[in-house]
Amino acid sequence: MDSSENKSSAIFLDRDGVINVIKNNPFVNTPDDMIINHDTAIAIKVFRDYGFKVICVTNQGGIANGYLTHEDLDDIHYKMRELLAAHGAYLDDVLYCPHYWSETPTCECRKPRPGMLLEAAARHDIDLFSSYMVGDRKEDLMAGIAANVHQNVLISDVKNLGIKYGLEMYANIWQFSCLSEMLAFFTQFHIRGVGCDA
Ligand SMILES: [Zn+2]
Repeated sequence: MDSSENKSSAIFLDRDGVINVIKNNPFVNTPDDMIINHDTAIAIKVFRDYGFKVICVTNQGGIANGYLTHEDLDDIHYKMRELLAAHGAYLDDVLYCPHYWSETPTCECRKPRPGMLLEAAARHDIDLFSSYMVGDRKEDLMAGIAANVHQNVLISDVKNLGIKYGLEMYANIWQFSCLSEMLAFFTQFHIRGVGCDA
C-alpha cells in the first residue's frame, strides 16, 4: 500500500446475497427481511482489523419501482448495521443506487456502472487499484472492473460461474463459495503484513 500515497484500500461488498441471506427471502423490503450472513459479519471484522475500509455498495431499484422508500431503506440499513455490530463488524459506509434500468443506462451509479465505487473512493480517499469488489452477480464484478478495482471476487457455489458470465478474460477474477472461504485465502495472502507490530 506504500505506492498509493497513504490512501486506504477498501473491501467493497454487495449487499443482497453477500451481507444478507436471500435464499428463502429474495426481497428485502422491511427490517425483518434483513437476515445477516454470519460468515460475512466475521469477515468484515477481520478485513477492518487488517486496515481495510469496508463499504457496502448496493443496487436498490425497488425504490424506483415503488416497493420501498428511502426511509424504509434507512431503517433496513440501520437493522443491518445493528446485526453486524453484534458480531463486532462495522461498515465504513453504505452507498445505494435507488434507480432502476435493465438495458439502457439512465444513471451512473447502478452496477455494472462504477459510480458508487468512484463516489466511495472520493469520500474516503480510497485507492481503487488495491481494493477488492465482492459480489454474487456479474454486475458487481463489472462495476469493480469499470472502477479499476484490481481484485474482483464472485461469491457463489455455482461452479465456474465466472466462465458462465464470460468473465474469464479478466485476470483478477476470483470465485469462492462464501466469505469464510475468501477470508481463509485472503488471510494467507496478507499474512506477511500483520502480526509483527502488534
Ligand atoms: Zn443509480
